[in-house]
Amino acid sequence: MSMENPAKPLEGRVAVVTGASSGLGEASAEHLAELGAKVAVLARRAERLEELVARIGKNGGRAIAFTADVTEAEEVQAAADQVEAELGSADLLFNNAGVMLPAPIEELRMDRWRMEIDVNVTGLMNTIGAFTPQLVRAAAERGVADLINTSSIGAQNIFPNFAVYSGTKAYVSHLSRHLRVELGPKNVRVCAIEPGIVGTELQDHVTDESALQWLSGSRKTMQWLTPQDIARTIGFIATQPPRVNLQQVTIMPTGQTS
Ligand code: NDP
Repeated sequence: MSMENPAKPLEGRVAVVTGASSGLGEASAEHLAELGAKVAVLARRAERLEELVARIGKNGGRAIAFTADVTEAEEVQAAADQVEAELGSADLLFNNAGVMLPAPIEELRMDRWRMEIDVNVTGLMNTIGAFTPQLVRAAAERGVADLINTSSIGAQNIFPNFAVYSGTKAYVSHLSRHLRVELGPKNVRVCAIEPGIVGTELQDHVTDESALQWLSGSRKTMQWLTPQDIARTIGFIATQPPRVNLQQVTIMPTGQTS
């Protein structure tokens, strides 16, 4: 510990970020690399990941891209095996890939429900399944590891027409509380991060008229969070001393009231 470089507090660590081709994941991967971690970035859009890897490299960091769909367990497992072979056991997983497709329940948009559940719940679990053995091994070898799951303020508050999305995020928060108790004794910290609105591509996939109106109204009346605000928070969580586990971090735009 005395040899630690204060400018690079995550030096020697191996971070995996899902949903790294845009938004929260992209900004967090860049920040974790700045803090000294080697970073494996995962998403479906290969060119976006390659651009990110090149940018991180140009800034003096090290990153590797893995193209995978988190809803396909074998693809995530193959990426996990390759991460371990190329970078060593992952000791930080930012489990962040997600989609938000609001619609009134009576429209019966089962395609959207299924997509939200597949990515936000099944994809999250596929990733936990693929990387937990590495996190546990790394924590035993290096003293600490982090599992940070992306939930949402939707896990706490009521947002009309966002029932299924909010349900998936309530799952993420409650799952994280359980996993903290299971994995904490093995030095794996577990955190759920619950952001309010952050300006990303997430909103671009929204087609529901009332949700679009609510979003455009809120953009006029408040300043949304930026992906960099979340990235700095992820960095803060991961750089705490090994005894400190932030179990749940709710981060809101100052002006967001609902
Ligand atoms: P973006 O749409 O910008 O990013 C979503 C990321 O998830 C992309 O990198 C996308 O990559 C990836 N992704 C989606 N589906 C899959 C899949 N099947 N397999 C692999 N990767 C996938 O949105 P955000 O950055 O905002 O979202 C990140 C997380 O933050 C989500 O879990 C979201 O629910 C959560 N969140 C966001 C908030 C916001 O206001 N923006 C607020 C609260 C929580 P690709 O398409 O290349 O696969």
